[in-house]
Amino acid sequence: MNNRATGTKPFGRVSRRDFLKFCTAAAVYMGLPAGMGVKLAAAATTNQRPPVIWLSGQGCTGCTESLLRPSHPTLEHLILKQIALDYNETLNTGAGHQAEEFKKKSIQDNLNRFILVVEGAVPTKDGGIYCQVAGQNFIDIVKETASKAAAVIAIGSCASWGGIPSATPNPTGAKGVPEVLPGTTVVTIPGCPPNAYNFLSTVLYFLTFNKLPELDDKGRPKFAYGRLIHENCERRPHFDAGRFAKEFGDEGHRQGYCLYKLGCKGPMTYANCPSILFSDVGSGAWPVGTGHPCFGCTEQGVGFHIPLHAQAEVKQVTPAAGQAPIEAKRGQGVTIGAAALVGAAVGVAAGAGVMAAKNLDAKDQESGKPSKEA
Ligand code: SF4
Repeated sequence: MNNRATGTKPFGRVSRRDFLKFCTAAAVYMGLPAGMGVKLAAAATTNQRPPVIWLSGQGCTGCTESLLRPSHPTLEHLILKQIALDYNETLNTGAGHQAEEFKKKSIQDNLNRFILVVEGAVPTKDGGIYCQVAGQNFIDIVKETASKAAAVIAIGSCASWGGIPSATPNPTGAKGVPEVLPGTTVVTIPGCPPNAYNFLSTVLYFLTFNKLPELDDKGRPKFAYGRLIHENCERRPHFDAGRFAKEFGDEGHRQGYCLYKLGCKGPMTYANCPSILFSDVGSGAWPVGTGHPCFGCTEQGVGFHIPLHAQAEVKQVTPAAGQAPIEAKRGQGVTIGAAALVGAAVGVAAGAGVMAAKNLDAKDQESGKPSKEA
């Protein structure tokens, strides 16, 4: 599977130039100087790099699938060649005893050197009987393998905090990896699916500096999960101006207005989806960009727990500085910033930017557009 096993050339069908460009972008994206891209590339191509053992538990395999779906060839190449993926049940060419023996050998040959990646939740009820691989309960496999790994990464929301399998009534006692490995530092890359760049950048950082990037209190790399989706969302100026879609397909929805009233959880969800998008398919390639409210998949206690239609708690009401304001008439001198703050003060859950919305409504009535009142 990796280039050591297949004997493929280090850069395969990806040019060195493209590979360096990717690593430079990853460096900048992690807040490192652009010049560090060369170091990231060197670390990813050395023969000394640690292999990755990828275990799959209670999940849909969507994390693996999404990592392999990007149209960006560098990304696929990195996953399959550069990170030395030694074991992944979905991608293994071998199966059964052959695959298990290879995993054991890889772990043995790389004690305290390999990176363990876990995909899927860990069922804990009844001793963890609800997920077995090769006759062993998954919870025991995770504990045993983690004790021999250099670093542990939980990829996807299921592995990070339980995800869909942990939704009420959680019949299998599904938990995230951090919960079943107390006392162990577990990097979490939540998302349903997670973004491939967040995973790869974390791995590149570890390979380069032999340490983990700075993490938040939930184990998420701060470079990827340090800001609310609401802060960087392209629809944020509509929120600040009090312009909301109120039904799927209504005039506001067609105009690209804010999706807050359709249940968008961006105001209480930390992730970089609006900044790095998904799958390299161009601008707008993320849920809100396509007209669907964010459902908070990266946030424990939000995704799969708060109903999709429920309105989010707004954690940050100050208008984002990075977005150009939307052109709007606001009558009596209510600024966009003041509207957002007043909206918060009177209860944003009932309709953010309500003062701005009132002023806009007067204008809309003149023009025949739908009212934006809560
Ligand atoms: Fe974007 Fe959702 Fe925030 Fe509206 S509520 S600005 S759609 S993140």
